[in-house]
Amino acid sequence: MSSVKGIDDTVSKNIRKSMQADCQNCFGLCCTALTITASSDFAMNKPAGIPCTHLQSNFHCQIHRDLRSKGFKGCTVYDCLGAGQLVAQTTFNGQDWRGNAEVAEKMFQVFPIMEQLYEMIAYVAEAMAYRISPKLYDNLHEQLETLQSLTKLEATALIALDIPPIRQPVNNLLLETSAQIRNKLAVTTLGEKNAPNHRGANWIGKNLKGKDLRGTDLRGAYLIAANLQNADLRGVDFIGADLRDANLCGANLSTAMFLTQMQINSASGNHQTKLPFYLHMPSHWHTAP
Ligand code: SF4
Repeated sequence: MSSVKGIDDTVSKNIRKSMQADCQNCFGLCCTALTITASSDFAMNKPAGIPCTHLQSNFHCQIHRDLRSKGFKGCTVYDCLGAGQLVAQTTFNGQDWRGNAEVAEKMFQVFPIMEQLYEMIAYVAEAMAYRISPKLYDNLHEQLETLQSLTKLEATALIALDIPPIRQPVNNLLLETSAQIRNKLAVTTLGEKNAPNHRGANWIGKNLKGKDLRGTDLRGAYLIAANLQNADLRGVDFIGADLRDANLCGANLSTAMFLTQMQINSASGNHQTKLPFYLHMPSHWHTAP
């Protein structure tokens, strides 16, 4: 699924690949700014703006090696895509929030907004790397530039952003991208007129081992603990799908669409699982058979 002839997808691919968290250049924002609600993924409650009790003075996690065994699986799943270091080093010019209460308050408000802008940039950059119509590519490119310019706003302007109206046109373009790619796949490969649609499906715990689900719309689907072992998931749209504890061992996700590192981190898989170019195998998969 590369872009159409004449469109250079290298830039968008590089943008998508480069969106990685760099905790060394952050001030533990995800461990401080965000609310943590006690659940099977987090062993305690923590209000927004209060540092986690495990956050050390050097912003490293005291229980980093034992997060899963100590009930903090959610921390191993989380991925800010690089929003943290941008807020810390660019929006706030490397100011440590610990020295200034006003900076701290603003930084903790900016971080979740930047996270959302980064999430949209990641999706748009990925969409631009697909074989889509030139018109759609141009519209995505325009959105990408808009989103990138918003990330450069100063803190007060970022806090004032109204995210839903920004998200709406992005979402429309992602839906169009998904439809173009999946319908083409349906016609050319599956011999169908339209791609399968199971948007929002409740497939919790469902046995889908070895199934051919190519080109399926699984937006917002509940795939918690589903058995997707050896399933063919190429061209599947996974935006917002819940893959917690899904079994992806041996599954082919090489051209799955709008899959995030967080979704992959929340699932189980192994060396045989094929991932899209911009995602990496989570460390906890290395011990899988
Ligand atoms: S447990 Fe560690 S990684 Fe999780 S929020 Fe606390 S300091 Fe951060």
